Amino acid sequence: MSDKTSAPAGGLKAVIVGAGMAGILAAIKLKQRGEDFVVLEKAARIGGTWRENRYPGLTCDVPAHAYTYSFEPYAEWPAYYAKGPEIQAYFEMVTDKYGIRPHIRFNAEVTALDWDEAASQWTVRVAGGDAIVADVVVAASGVLHHPKLPDIAGLDSFAGTKVHSAQWREDTPIDGKRVGLIGNGSTGVQILTAINKRVDKLVHFQRSPQWIMPVPYFTYSDEERAAFRADPSLIDAIRYNDEYLGAIKRFTDGITDIDGPQMAEIEEYCRLNLENSVRDPALREKLRPNYRAACKRLIYSWCYYEEVQHPAVFVETGRIERIEPAGVRMVDGTFHELDTLILATGFHADRFIRPAGVTGTGGQTLDAAWAVRPTAYYAVTVPGFPNFIMLNGPTGPVGNFSLIDIAEMQWAYAEQLLDLLRQRKVRAFAPTAEAHAHYEERRIAAAKKTIFGSGCTSWYLDATGVPASWPWSYDAFVDAMKAPVLEDYALSA
Ligand code: NAP
Repeated sequence: MSDKTSAPAGGLKAVIVGAGMAGILAAIKLKQRGEDFVVLEKAARIGGTWRENRYPGLTCDVPAHAYTYSFEPYAEWPAYYAKGPEIQAYFEMVTDKYGIRPHIRFNAEVTALDWDEAASQWTVRVAGGDAIVADVVVAASGVLHHPKLPDIAGLDSFAGTKVHSAQWREDTPIDGKRVGLIGNGSTGVQILTAINKRVDKLVHFQRSPQWIMPVPYFTYSDEERAAFRADPSLIDAIRYNDEYLGAIKRFTDGITDIDGPQMAEIEEYCRLNLENSVRDPALREKLRPNYRAACKRLIYSWCYYEEVQHPAVFVETGRIERIEPAGVRMVDGTFHELDTLILATGFHADRFIRPAGVTGTGGQTLDAAWAVRPTAYYAVTVPGFPNFIMLNGPTGPVGNFSLIDIAEMQWAYAEQLLDLLRQRKVRAFAPTAEAHAHYEERRIAAAKKTIFGSGCTSWYLDATGVPASWPWSYDAFVDAMKAPVLEDYALSA
């Protein structure tokens, strides 16, 4: 870990790309280390995904007390699961509390990053012209922030209001309207449960049904919040207990041992939820997936099955033929006349820091290095791109758990590499191509055997159909993040 006593005066110059959850984390940590850093944020506000997503029903399906920085527990959460604006307010509060805001340049979109081998430094170019030179780049630019529009004929011809979930507008006509909703991932399901009682009718276009994991939902009383304030160990008891962290570990064990008891338990929970919650047998069959639970990201919901049975909701399972000015035409000829069309159709999940152009050693580009799939060594560093740290980068763990937790572990790993720079023991670090190739070979072989690769489509799969994520257990990730294996790194003095 950082050995500040032996570090020479003069901090590392660092650029953090993105002021979302991971960028704010990196900023706090760099500030505590006494480094010289700037956060470049393309938008006018912090918050990343919580700034961009403002759709009705936006909730984080990770328990609120687990979706916080470990060093900044928060007694004030109103309920077990927090709503988007509450999470945004938490990050705003933390940003100010740790004095990060003056370090952020807003409306500063990074367009290019070029590694200068002779100087062992990055030149980071910002839209509009200026450039910043840095020893280190922290790519904290998020995963799910390039909205994906469905490839449906006539999409642009729709005459009513059309909106992607991540580009929500407050004036989207919902109340008393005929609304179409395409997509039933975590987003589409949350939107349905929030608008079904406001609309005249809601047609939910469901290409594939989803497994729904039943979860508890409850609010915290003023007395409980006062108790959390007085004794933060009560918060730890929620975030580190068997019900949450134990379940995460069993879940990741299940993902990697798909015929084992944990996965059987998850499948049974989901199956019973469907059987016991949906009263109409015809609707129940419409909602029954033909793939295994957890193959797509599990939907955690305490109310979806209840809300989808509301009389205003019609689940359309036919194939869409095309979109017309007045609505959606199905292949069987059915026409759904609509005022509003909501596209909860997900994101391009393979972009990461791109479209910024990243050029590493020998002029190689990240686009070329990632021609087959985005990849990073243990999800943090990239061969050929020295002093380049990714938080929530490719091949990291994904699932129904806190990505804050994952980013913190990745930071603890990366910080040990920064120590080498800070102590002037090395000028540059990057994983060797051999070590990375070995990692990817093992990862891909394991990924194909995870539940994500068991026969469904999802954003968890890369362009070749291989699960893009960490394929081992949560505990294996904790172990891997304890310390970098320095023999796997090219360290240039
Ligand atoms: P998503 O999981 O990628 O789901 C996209 C949906 O759109 C799917 O139902 C997909 O159907 C459908 N779709 C896409 N193209 C279509 C087309 N041409 N015709 C018909 N349907 C189409 O996207 P998301 O729901 O926005 O969620 C993305 C991720 O964001 C989640 O997995 C999660 O990681 C994160 N998220 C988290 C939370 C949270 O509470 N923590 C909440 C929201 C989102 P198919 O299944 O058939 O492809």
